[in-house]
Amino acid sequence: MKFPPTRYLRPVVLDQALDALNQYKGSIKVLAGGQSLLPLMAMRLADPDILLDINDLAELQEIRDWENCVEIGALIRHQRLIDDPVIQQHAPVLPLVARHIGHLAIRHRGTIGGSLVHCDPAAELPLAVQALDGEMLVQSVGQTRILPAGKFFLSYLMSAVEPHEMLTAIRIPKLMAHTRFAFDEVAGRTGDFALVSALAIVTLDDDASIQVARLAIGGVSEVPFRVYEAEQYLTDAKLTPEVIDGAASIVHQAVNPEGDLHASANYRRHLAGVLTSRVLTRVGVKGDLSWNR
Ligand SMILES: Cc1cc2nc3c(=O)[nH]c(=O)nc-3n(C[C@H](O)[C@H](O)[C@H](O)COP(=O)(O)OP(=O)(O)OC[C@H]3O[C@@H](n4cnc5c(N)ncnc54)[C@H](O)[C@@H]3O)c2cc1C
Repeated sequence: MKFPPTRYLRPVVLDQALDALNQYKGSIKVLAGGQSLLPLMAMRLADPDILLDINDLAELQEIRDWENCVEIGALIRHQRLIDDPVIQQHAPVLPLVARHIGHLAIRHRGTIGGSLVHCDPAAELPLAVQALDGEMLVQSVGQTRILPAGKFFLSYLMSAVEPHEMLTAIRIPKLMAHTRFAFDEVAGRTGDFALVSALAIVTLDDDASIQVARLAIGGVSEVPFRVYEAEQYLTDAKLTPEVIDGAASIVHQAVNPEGDLHASANYRRHLAGVLTSRVLTRVGVKGDLSWNR
């Protein structure tokens, strides 16, 4: 279907964009990579009067290496997350999960900001930001809010960004030494959204006991789901097969997915347990990647 008729603005500085959002709030939508918004418009599920194309805003296209975190501009494309050396070095979980997003063409257009604001519960980047305790910088005229992931993802396709605001950057804390992580997902076909996904990030002591565990499951609730009960259970334990089974069983009971035409609730629950077991087993051996500095 063709898009509905829409006015189009393409500011070149952030202040102009924030002014436009403030002036037309409610009838204007930010256009980033367009990989979610444009299909929604074509299907008439979104019908803004004005599109605010932010692709010329240089401020949103920088990656900054701070002492304790990496600050990633909201317009950074999924493919750049995969290729960028600063991200690879300091936020390696993002390239790991971004490889699973859609197809190459989508990864070259879609942006981290768009993915987080769109807030699909099965999307990889919201899951990673939730597990990594990322912070979102949300700006409006004269104001900046810094929101932790726990307060940013509100519900199905709903983030905390108000109509007069823009997500401008994401801060990802650098990983602690001796941290390993693994990600896995099950999707109907390569390139499809995941039915269920799991991400484990585990920091080990010198004696291989777990100092800090973070476990997040996608596709089983309205927002990416941190399984704090399983994280607590894993803390101070060693990743033996029995402990991994115990964590998988906690996840299996903790998730409360809904069924849809892609997968039943029971199948999603089953996958959550299986994927937990898989990622923790891989972390126990070596992890998909590890961080030893
Ligand atoms: C065929 C296909 C397969 C896909 N598969 C996957 C997949 O497997 N995993 C996955 O995670 N995603 C997948 N996607 C979605 C893709 O990752 C999108 O890039 C992403 O969801 C949205 O990013 P975008 O930059 O394209 O945002 P847009 O489509 O431009 O915008 C999405 C929403 O966010 C708002 N928005 C965007 N940027 C900002 C901002 N900076 N501040 C405030 N609001 C903003 C827009 O107004 C809109 O409401 C797929 C898309 C397609 C078409």
